[in-house]
Amino acid sequence: MTGRLLDGRRAVVTGAGQGIGLAIARELHRHGARVALLDLDSERASVAAAEIGDDALGVAADVTSESDIADAAAAVVAEWGGIDIWVNNAGVTRDAAMRKMSVDDFDLVIGVHLRGSWLGVRQAAAVMYGHGGSIINISSMSGKIGNPGQTNYSAAKAGIVGLTKASAKEQARHGIRVNAVQPGLIRTPMTAAMSTEAFAATESTIPMQRAGEPEEVAGVVVFLASELASYVTGAVIEVGGGRGM
Ligand code: NAP
Repeated sequence: MTGRLLDGRRAVVTGAGQGIGLAIARELHRHGARVALLDLDSERASVAAAEIGDDALGVAADVTSESDIADAAAAVVAEWGGIDIWVNNAGVTRDAAMRKMSVDDFDLVIGVHLRGSWLGVRQAAAVMYGHGGSIINISSMSGKIGNPGQTNYSAAKAGIVGLTKASAKEQARHGIRVNAVQPGLIRTPMTAAMSTEAFAATESTIPMQRAGEPEEVAGVVVFLASELASYVTGAVIEVGGGRGM
């Protein structure tokens, strides 16, 4: 095989203004893809796209908005003629013990992760229909093992696994693969908000004895996006240094 893994591919990454999403956008681009970086914060999306350079586009979009997602996809198709890779990565946390968690914080987290990923999968599959593609949903180990203080987040991330498998079965015959990645503890602005004690306590449960870096999640996304994973669909790949195995 000659060339880079993703030469000629057109990719969309949601929540790509920082953290894991930005690392995914950078890695997809490094492997040859054109990349649209979607983020709630339009300024952050544009700055990140400019930093990546040629063939990178910053697009403002709220993943919970059906029209924002449709408009963003239309803008990318207008620019590049199609979409081959779509990564549903945008996320938020609103951690609290269940007895203290507000319904608003439950709805917000379910909305961004589950509704957002559902809208993303549906939009991506519609654009990819007829020529195929690869959709990757970012779940979490929290959706596999359940984390206290994260009843909203764990429920959303487990829901993303069901969404991944059901849509993978629907889309397989159209040449569209749908897979999920479950990161463990990764160093990003999201986990920088954890207390030092909570971070260290979680890190101590990891067989590899360290937190992961965003690039270590991005590498697995590149694999799933590429032809190296041509026979992989409905899979859930853990990227957690062995945590929760
Ligand atoms: P992050 O640093 O907080 O980045 C999340 C990004 O998503 C931000 O740029 C944020 O934009 C954007 N976003 C939030 N709500 C959005 C919305 N409604 N529409 C569009 N964009 C939105 O988080 P991260 O740690 O990189 O996490 C990325 C993904 O990995 C998330 O799905 C997260 O649940 C998952 N994950 C993370 C870890 C970890 O340890 N870090 C572990 C497992 C899974 P604004 O900041 O502008 O709001």
